[in-house]
Amino acid sequence: MNRTGEFDLIDSLFAPLASGVPGALGLADDAAVLQPRDGTEIVVTTDALVAGIHFHLDDPPDLVGQKLLRVSLSDLASMGAEPDVYFLTLALSQDCDDSWLEAFASGLAADQKEFNVRLVGGDTVSTSGPLMLSVTALGRVPTGQALLRSGAHEGDEIWVSGSIGDSALGLMAIQSGSASGERRAERWLKERYLLPRPRTGLGIRLRGLASSCIDVSDGLIADLNHICQVSGLSAWVEMEHIPISDPAQAVLIDNPGLIQSILSGGDDYELLFTASPQVHDAVKQAARSCGSCVTCIGVMSTGSGVEVVDGNNEQIDVLKMGYTHF
Ligand code: ADP
Ligand code: MG
Repeated sequence: MNRTGEFDLIDSLFAPLASGVPGALGLADDAAVLQPRDGTEIVVTTDALVAGIHFHLDDPPDLVGQKLLRVSLSDLASMGAEPDVYFLTLALSQDCDDSWLEAFASGLAADQKEFNVRLVGGDTVSTSGPLMLSVTALGRVPTGQALLRSGAHEGDEIWVSGSIGDSALGLMAIQSGSASGERRAERWLKERYLLPRPRTGLGIRLRGLASSCIDVSDGLIADLNHICQVSGLSAWVEMEHIPISDPAQAVLIDNPGLIQSILSGGDDYELLFTASPQVHDAVKQAARSCGSCVTCIGVMSTGSGVEVVDGNNEQIDVLKMGYTHF
């Protein structure tokens, strides 16, 4: 293994990612100094990825860097916050060399441009365990306007952005290890797993419209159930309205049982939110204005839990709610 020492690593790979932010102090001081902005609140979120569990060491390292940042940016999007800065914590294992870290940092650099965020600090340690990567991201939202999980009302419509289940099917395709001559549809599904698209623009535009919001990371039904629990309500969802991409539809034709993976598979990083029917058109307009697609999939009601029905109003059993770590 070939690896540069801790301080050289920070200097050569990470300090360039902190250029242009005075408060980062060139990553050469003990901490960052951030300037609060009048009339805004700071939204903070942390995520960690562990090799062998959330990614594999043979995944392209630039994509791992992008995914690491993007899962946190998705949390900010779900709160209606605009991304600002982030901290990066690395527990480096023996099998992680300079070339891996260089490619990883290039992925971060690409997404810093794409999402307008900058690195302002972090920590670098070594571990005898698996490689662990963590990002703490900070975003801004006008005071009082953060989108919470807890604000849903009875009668609110339930919306979801993009399409659901691609990532779960993509992960299955990766795990089944299909040959390189794979179909385009399958490649697209794999990409959806490897490189989520946080709905930053949509989250910001849902301020003042959405009554509650969450990003779909554990699975559509599990995450909708989180909104139900904290809002003290139930959700009624029409299966036929759940947006499923053409590539996912193609997989379902061959294997209809995979519908369960669509409902409970995680890692979609789409926004799942509720809004009053009175703002139905405004929600659509907000999505259009940032090039996002949103679909109304159901309605919030009294009671508890999530009910999914088919076109004949027959209840569909959801076998597994979603992903849990323990
Ligand atoms: P301390 O020992 O006081 O915790 P460190 O030596 O760990 O400080 O870090 C020195 C500087 O380098 C700090 O500004 C810290 O934020 C930054 N830093 C360390 N690791 C990283 C990293 N992985 N990414 C970004 N900044 C880092
Ligand atoms: Mg330290």
